[in-house]
Amino acid sequence: MRIKTQPTRDLARGLVELAAQARALAYAPYSQYPVGAAVVAKSGKIYTGSNIENASYGLTVCAERNAIFKGVTEGEREFVALAVVTTNGGSPCGACRQVAFEFMRPDAMVYLADETSRVTRAFTLGALLPDGFTPAKLRQGQKRARDDRNQTKK
Ligand SMILES: [Zn+2]
Repeated sequence: MRIKTQPTRDLARGLVELAAQARALAYAPYSQYPVGAAVVAKSGKIYTGSNIENASYGLTVCAERNAIFKGVTEGEREFVALAVVTTNGGSPCGACRQVAFEFMRPDAMVYLADETSRVTRAFTLGALLPDGFTPAKLRQGQKRARDDRNQTKK
């Protein structure tokens, strides 16, 4: 499905509706907390995901990461908005915020909705994860480590 990439009220509604549909497919027998997510890529395509739990709890993957990874495996590298639907409008965990930060700009919108698909809160990703870790910061750190190694060789 493709919709306008401009973050608008219509985009939020459309994303929330798709996230709610994804939530219905969640595999959450342990937490009983089904989550659905939908992201719209810069290309205009939308990808959805739900949480998938495991009897070995630590292997559970959140809806947000499943949606983002689905898009990335289809060739997307940037998403412009994310919607998450939970029972009570819960917000993404720290791991999902960092994964989103890899593929979304800090000014990208994140819409949170409850089980009635009512948008309860909306944030920029930067507000949800101030000073997230970026590829640029990794490269800076790697360069510094190389420079330090080269200094000690002299
Ligand atoms: Zn998460």
